[in-house]
Amino acid sequence: MIFFTNEWIADITLFMEKILISSCLIGEQVRYDGQSKPLVHQLIKRMQSEGRLIPFCPEVAGGLPVPRPPAEIFGGSAEDVLAGRADVITRDGEVTYAFVAGARKALDIVNRYQVRFALLKEKSPSCGSALIYDGRFQGKLVEGVGVTTALLRKNEVTVFGETQIDQLIKCII
Ligand code: SF4
Repeated sequence: MIFFTNEWIADITLFMEKILISSCLIGEQVRYDGQSKPLVHQLIKRMQSEGRLIPFCPEVAGGLPVPRPPAEIFGGSAEDVLAGRADVITRDGEVTYAFVAGARKALDIVNRYQVRFALLKEKSPSCGSALIYDGRFQGKLVEGVGVTTALLRKNEVTVFGETQIDQLIKCII
């Protein structure tokens, strides 16, 4: 008979925990331009086959169509957007409501599945985790995070960008 220690059980639980991932990183064509940004990596393939990935697009979940006009955070940070002090805009108008709704749905999911880690698309006004565009639609990046990332981090989810997959691996294996 095999006896499992509490430490082994904790290790197994950790190993099998679910990861929230930007839908566009696993090939879903949900980006503003109708395209995807597939992330090719052995770990992604393995976790997908194990059913451990939860693909999620906050902008689509918030009610925006595909394709849609590109959006940027304007007049403050993502935290300011969540607090009602700044907006998310496109060249056609304001879409703050959809970004906040999508972020809240992401939080519902991580709470439901007890997700502790997310792998999200960098530079997005929803999913960005280090750099975002500056709100002037001139292609200029500034330090900052997307609205969903800000809400997840506020709720103790560790968010990595797709170039930080090695750091994610260290956390989950
Ligand atoms: S909101 Fe996030 S998941 Fe959706 S297309 Fe943009 S980067 Fe990808």
